[in-house]
Amino acid sequence: MLRNDPDVVVIGAGCAGIAAARALIAAGKSCVVLEAGDRVGGRAYTSDLLGAPFDHGATWLHQAGENPLARFLGEHIDHDAVRGRHLHLGDRFATGTELAEYLHALDDFEAAIVAAPQDPDRAVSEVVPRGGRWNETIAHWLGSQINAAELSMISLKDYVAVDLEGPNLLPREGVGALVARLSGGLPIRLGHAVTRLRWDGPGVVAEGEWGTLRAGAAIVTVSTGVLAAGAIRFTPGLPSDTMDAIHGLPLGLLTKYGFRTRGDDRLGMAPFHSARRLLGPEVRTAMSWIFWPFGRDQVFGFVGGARAWELAQEGTATTEAAARADFAAMFGARGAAALGEAVVTGWGTDPLFRGSYTHARPGHHESRARLSRWLGGGRLRFAGEACHSRFAGTVAGAWLSGEAAVRDLLDKRAAVTDAR
Ligand SMILES: Cc1cc2nc3c(=O)[nH]c(=O)nc-3n(C[C@H](O)[C@H](O)[C@H](O)COP(=O)(O)OP(=O)(O)OC[C@H]3O[C@@H](n4cnc5c(N)ncnc54)[C@H](O)[C@@H]3O)c2cc1C
Repeated sequence: MLRNDPDVVVIGAGCAGIAAARALIAAGKSCVVLEAGDRVGGRAYTSDLLGAPFDHGATWLHQAGENPLARFLGEHIDHDAVRGRHLHLGDRFATGTELAEYLHALDDFEAAIVAAPQDPDRAVSEVVPRGGRWNETIAHWLGSQINAAELSMISLKDYVAVDLEGPNLLPREGVGALVARLSGGLPIRLGHAVTRLRWDGPGVVAEGEWGTLRAGAAIVTVSTGVLAAGAIRFTPGLPSDTMDAIHGLPLGLLTKYGFRTRGDDRLGMAPFHSARRLLGPEVRTAMSWIFWPFGRDQVFGFVGGARAWELAQEGTATTEAAARADFAAMFGARGAAALGEAVVTGWGTDPLFRGSYTHARPGHHESRARLSRWLGGGRLRFAGEACHSRFAGTVAGAWLSGEAAVRDLLDKRAAVTDAR
C-alpha cells in the first residue's frame, strides 16, 4: 500500500530524486519517491559484474571541492594525481614531447572557447581552432567523449557555463554504490512507473499501472529524454516554454564499457592511466580507456556522440566488438588476449533514460533555468542534471537541483499541506 497524500511525490530515484527526498524529510515534510526501475540511483549505478565494483554510469565526482556528494565519500583516489595520459599515433604511443605538444594544443583549444564572444550564442564548433596535428582529436575528445555530443550540437554559452574541473575523485566503492547508500531509509517505491501526472489542482495525482497517488506537489526528476518521448502524460499539458526547454536539452550518448582482464600482462600501463587514439584519415572516431582502477583486473572506457548512437542501434555486441578492435589497434594481439568478459552499457536504448546526459542545443542555453521553475503555483517542478547550469550533466548538478527544488518549495509554499 502506498501512503496516501504525502506533501510531495518525487518521480525518479536517481541523484536528484534521492537528494530531494532527503531534503524534504530533513525539513519535516512527507514524501514518496516513485521509481520505475528495479533499483535506485538511475544513471549512477555500480555493479560487480566484472568481479569488482564497476560504475555503469557516473564514474568521477568532478569539481570535488564543491561537489555535494564529496562529503559522503569513503575511500577514494584523486584521479588527477595518478592519471598518466597516453596517445596512440597509429603505430606507437606519443613521446613525451609529442604529448606535451598535444596538451599545449588542448590548452589553446579550451582558451579559444572561453575567449570567444558569446553573443549571439552559437555552436562551440564555430569558435575552435582547426587543422594542425591535434585539433581534430581534441574536438572529438571534448565533444563526443566529455559532452557525449559533437561540438557542432552544443551551445557555446552552455558549454562555458558548465564547470567540470577537478579534483576528479574516484570512490573505491563506485559512485552508484555511494548514491545507493544515501537512499537508505527513504520511502522509495521501486517498479512504480508514472505514466500520467495530473497537476490541475488542488494538488497533484500520479498514476501508473500500480494505482494512483495524490500529493500536494510533484518533483519530477526523469531525464529530458524520457520527458521528450512523452513517457509521462501531463494533464493539463506542459506550457510551451517548458516543452521548448525540454527539447533544447537533449541527451547525448556516452556508452561505457568495461572488461575483466586476463593474465598478468599490464601492457606497460600503470593503474589509473588512460589511453586514446589520434584521429586521422584512417581513424575517424576513437574510444578512450582507463587501466586497472585500484589495481583491479579491469579496464574500462567510453565511446560517445554520433558513433555511440550508431553502435547502440546495432546492439551491445557491436559496441563490444568495436571496443575490442580499438584496444587491439593500440596493443595488438597482446592487448586482444588480455581482454576477458565484457559489460557494455545501454543508456541510449533504455526507455528509462534514453541517453547519458544533456547538452544545450545552440541558442538554448537558457533552457536549464526555464526548466527549473515551479509550475502551477508551486504544484509541479522539474529537477535533475538538466536543471543545473553550472554542474549540468553530472551527479553534482542532479543532487543540487533536487535540493534546490525543495528549498524553493519550502520558500514559496511554506506549508504545502495548507495549500491543498
Ligand atoms: C556513461 C555515463 C557516464 C557518466 N559519467 C559521469 C561522471 O563521471 N560524473 C558525473 O558527475 N556524472 C556522470 N554521468 C552523469 C550522471 O550519471 C547523471 O547526470 C546523473 O546521475 C543524473 O541524475 P538524475 O537524478 O538527474 O537522473 P536519473 O539518474 O536519470 O534519475 C531519474 C530516475 O527516474 C526514473 N524514471 C524514468 N522514467 C520514470 C517514470 N516514468 N516513472 C518513475 N520513474 C522513472 C529512472 O529509472 C531514474 O532512476 C554519467 C552518465 C553516464 C550515462
